[in-house]
Amino acid sequence: MYELTVETSFSAAHCLEKHPSPCGRLHGHNWTVAVTVTGDELNTMGMVVDFAVLKQALREAVAVFDHRYLNELPPFCDGAQPTAENIARHIWGAVAEKLAAYASVTVKEIKIAESPSAWVVYRP
Ligand SMILES: [Zn+2]
Repeated sequence: MYELTVETSFSAAHCLEKHPSPCGRLHGHNWTVAVTVTGDELNTMGMVVDFAVLKQALREAVAVFDHRYLNELPPFCDGAQPTAENIARHIWGAVAEKLAAYASVTVKEIKIAESPSAWVVYRP
């Protein structure tokens, strides 16, 4: 079993509505997002999947959030709070969809950090 991880980042604002802490006020983060995939098989290049493919899939998945106000965007404009947990699950789905053509690759997890000391790992 191989595990491959690539990381990217984006900047965005959000507000956790009705949260009694400062998280309930409009604020922003420089989010760091990493995807880890697994696979048992190597292609003819000796790779599970090219890192460039993973980076492209992850960058495309987070591009919709970059320099935006997350509360205004799907799925967060429909009632889901833009918590790190919900953002991670959403990005997992977007990356999995973009990598669907790579049948031997499994999207294991998304790690998203709001800061160097606070992060969420989502594994379906
Ligand atoms: Zn926040």
